[in-house]
Amino acid sequence: MRRLGVHTSIAGGLDKSLIRAKELGCDTLQIFSHNPRGWALSDIAPDEAAAFRKTREKLGLDPVFIHSCYLINLASQYLEIRERSLWMLGQELARADAIGADYVILHLAQAAGEDGIESLIMQIRSVIGRKGKKRFRAGLLFENTAGLPRKAGGPKDAGAAASSLSALAQIVEECGVAGICFDTCHGFASGYDIREPGQADAMAEEVSSRLGQGKIKLIHLNDSKGALGSGLDRHEHLGKGKIGLAGLRRFLASAGFAEVPVVLETPKEAESDDVMNIKTARSLIKPD
Ligand SMILES: [Zn+2]
Ligand SMILES: [Zn+2]
Repeated sequence: MRRLGVHTSIAGGLDKSLIRAKELGCDTLQIFSHNPRGWALSDIAPDEAAAFRKTREKLGLDPVFIHSCYLINLASQYLEIRERSLWMLGQELARADAIGADYVILHLAQAAGEDGIESLIMQIRSVIGRKGKKRFRAGLLFENTAGLPRKAGGPKDAGAAASSLSALAQIVEECGVAGICFDTCHGFASGYDIREPGQADAMAEEVSSRLGQGKIKLIHLNDSKGALGSGLDRHEHLGKGKIGLAGLRRFLASAGFAEVPVVLETPKEAESDDVMNIKTARSLIKPD
């Protein structure tokens, strides 16, 4: 059975995110472990971590994904921002370990420049440690972006490269991280027409030909406000965007993405939005 979840709020305490997810009928979930728009962090108190682990165990939610802070930019031209970003990435992984979360998701920075990808790889290795000497139990996942590498033709850029799955797989391999999070909105916006028969399997092959099977660890299931190849990172309710229900269903039915857990990052203006999108997602993942 494919596991389905949503991004939930940690307002009121980390363990509240689990209760919210369970109330929505989720099997898995994604959270921020702190305010994702600020550098300020307070440590997770041991009792808060213990409460999270206990509640998670009781509710049977699995896996737990942490989305890293939006401020992380390992490609910044400013040394201070790069140093803070490295520190923050380490904190995200340490916080994941503290509460027993399985994965941390990172968007690779835009505008890394010519030597940017090499430098990015070095920096990430310096945080996570080398193979066999990993500093953290939680795995790091890189998420594909909505950029336009195939049309841009500009200088090499890690953020742009990360919208090509083969390039992303290469960065994953060289960094020695756990795998990939594939976002359907970003994928569609970057030019992968996931509505087309065979496209999802071809994409899975782009990854597995370099990394082997099982390295796509998460699907961010979102419809897209932007058109195919638009480069727009604008999430839409399932079935209300340019991918559409039939396209999303076909994508989910592909062998290449079978069994990969799904987390929704659809718009949330009202609480009922999650209920609606989860209901739609359940109907999409149901085998015919
Ligand atoms: Zn996403
Ligand atoms: Zn997005």
